[in-house]
Amino acid sequence: MSVQTPAFPSATILGYPRIGRRRELKKAVEAYWAGKSSAAELQAAAEQIQLGTAARLTELGLTEPSAVPGTFSFYDQVLDTAVALGAVPARFGALHDADGRLGLDAYFTLARGNAEQQPLEMTKWFDTNYHYLVPEVGPETSFSLSSERVVDEFALAKANGTVTRPYLVGPVTFLALSKASDDAPEGFSPLSRLEDVLPVYAELLERLAAAGAEWVQLDEPVLVADGDDAAGTTSAQLSAAVERAYAALTAPAVGEGRPAILLSAPYGGLGEQTAAVAATGVEAVALDLFKGALPSAAELAAFAGKTVVAGFVDGHNIWRNDLAASAQKLDALKAAGAEHGFAVAVATSTSTFHVPHDVEEETQLDAQLRSWLAFADQKVREVAVLASYLADPASAAGAIEEATRVIASRAEAPDVRRPEVRERTAALTDADFSRPAFVTRAAAQDAVLHLPPLPTTTIGSFPQTAEVRGARARLNKGAIDAAEYEKLMKDEIKRVVDLQEELGFDVLVHGEPERNDMVQYFAENLDGFDVTVHGWVQSYGSRCTRPSILWGDVSRPAPITVPWAEYAQSLTDKPMKGMLTGPVTILAWSFVRDDQPLAETANQVALALRDEIADLEAAGIKVIQVDEPALRELLPLRKADQPAYLDWSVKSFRLATAGAQDSTQVHTHLCYSEFGVIIDAIDGLDADVTSIEAARSRMEVVNDLEAHGFGRGVGPGVYDIHSPRVPGQGEIEELLKTAVEHVPARQLWVNPDCGLKTRGYAETEDSLRNLVGAAKTARAHV
Ligand code: GLN
Ligand code: ZN
Repeated sequence: MSVQTPAFPSATILGYPRIGRRRELKKAVEAYWAGKSSAAELQAAAEQIQLGTAARLTELGLTEPSAVPGTFSFYDQVLDTAVALGAVPARFGALHDADGRLGLDAYFTLARGNAEQQPLEMTKWFDTNYHYLVPEVGPETSFSLSSERVVDEFALAKANGTVTRPYLVGPVTFLALSKASDDAPEGFSPLSRLEDVLPVYAELLERLAAAGAEWVQLDEPVLVADGDDAAGTTSAQLSAAVERAYAALTAPAVGEGRPAILLSAPYGGLGEQTAAVAATGVEAVALDLFKGALPSAAELAAFAGKTVVAGFVDGHNIWRNDLAASAQKLDALKAAGAEHGFAVAVATSTSTFHVPHDVEEETQLDAQLRSWLAFADQKVREVAVLASYLADPASAAGAIEEATRVIASRAEAPDVRRPEVRERTAALTDADFSRPAFVTRAAAQDAVLHLPPLPTTTIGSFPQTAEVRGARARLNKGAIDAAEYEKLMKDEIKRVVDLQEELGFDVLVHGEPERNDMVQYFAENLDGFDVTVHGWVQSYGSRCTRPSILWGDVSRPAPITVPWAEYAQSLTDKPMKGMLTGPVTILAWSFVRDDQPLAETANQVALALRDEIADLEAAGIKVIQVDEPALRELLPLRKADQPAYLDWSVKSFRLATAGAQDSTQVHTHLCYSEFGVIIDAIDGLDADVTSIEAARSRMEVVNDLEAHGFGRGVGPGVYDIHSPRVPGQGEIEELLKTAVEHVPARQLWVNPDCGLKTRGYAETEDSLRNLVGAAKTARAHV
């Protein structure tokens, strides 16, 4: 090796938010999609974000070469890598231009589909709320370097004074996350194409080196999850793939054909993959030491000659780092490094794109609460402090002391731990988690509800019109008062109720017009939460969410949904569904306190919901739906951790609902139907009726329900609300016919896949009319 490996920067982050501090990227791409701006204008906006990020990160302390990660993306980092490799599904036809390149329009076509083709599928990125696009790879996929955007972005930053560290999804993770293409034979595993993608990675690394990149980051989070045996990626196969991939990529010497390589492994400990990763020839490895444990002394010895990049600062949540504790762990790591001959640097545990930009922007938050938080910019400073501690412990003493003081103030703050809330959870007994047998409840419910066979209902929200959203915006700006707002919402509720009466629904909903978001709405009305103004984080593509902050003990100061439900029920003789968001979903879509087990926090939320259910019953509501669309989302990446999660999550739902009277019909709703390992958990929720996604998979889910022997009410969705398409009545009748072949008719409900919030009224009315018509026809045959 003639060229010396450049030193890895002492402080870095694994990635930075890319949507822009004021969601500039969202605005720029959406304007481009709408034909309101040119490709050049979009490119200019993107460059401004990239250069702004480099300048900001330098200002915050990432001053060494390669410390600023090149993690910009127009839409998604997995799509970026797929496009760089030329991995486009054949079903899209020719997307490459005459020079063999995939341009921005091809890129967006894969992300968003076109008139003939559905976009790439989207799914959750590890245990986060971010969704990536799933590449499709088959034996026929031809890989060739098809975009050098990552090189261009590096060159742009360099020309403006910052040597960044380009980012790519690593080859093992890229293929492990890909799904087999439509043309692939049964049992085909995309990972079998590893040898074919490696030359393209190598070519790209060569171009990056030629452009002056000293380090490149290859992200391999799949190594922290247990292999999916069903998909043919067992743990041993992943280890073997790591060995082959990095032997090939590190074959050229650093600087002679490639930059030095940082392999990053965010979202958990490497566990049994530690040895495989340590045995590769990469120059640095980033370990998630926030979620994962420090490898054992024997494991660490194998990192000799590398840089271990210690991810002590959590990139995935918003709490200020306990710098004193991190410093102590750093001491241990530094000692091991001295003994075994590896260098140590400091980083975040994951990319920081899961958290908002800057807590200083949230001036409306209580100053003490703000002091407990660290968004992306604050995390950069924390990393820099720890790096300076590593070089000279005394230099960081002030910052470490301050963090210790602030964290102590959080532990002692009165509303963080409230005795009246804690006494309630401490006093819970098994009886609080269960209802009498379903047969007993079903009889009591039949006596009250008198529903026909195949009853019809919807999932909750009706289209949120511009008027509804406009009214909320005017309320927030103070342009209308609460009384005026209430009147506008009641008008909307009446319109929704009248429409359902006219269409002939059996169980009605009020339409949820008063809710900005199914979690934030509850967060705003419960104690223990706060909401941000600028705290947007990317959910997928240009879509962002603004998670609430659950910082203290949760309780319900007053009924939340009851007045709306009561008003809606007063408009009809049909049963009106009360509509709540479940404890697991409230946790999954918020930033949750990390100072106690999630199970304890979930039970606090559950008790608040339990009180709400009691008040809904007192107000005459007989059917109550508790949505849990995120139940699957929080499932741990390691199989060993899954049973404990499923235990507390199911219990929290049961705690929320088990106080209901026998005659109250409890519904739940889940937005997906790939039940797999969680079917027992769904059954364990013990809801009287469960509605699920099914239209896109043409009712396949009923096979699972039949095999499992699901014994309570179930509503597999018959109308795919994700598309503006109106399903015909005959088509819905066919779906119902399939359903009754597998699920006893007395258990079956007829409903759409999900809420109608994002749909327009015209197509919704037509679709719902066909849905009710189909149910009536089907009833004649059961
Ligand atoms: N009740 C909610 C609605 O209809 C459920 C949304 C969801 O499942 N994501 O909007
Ligand atoms: Zn849903």
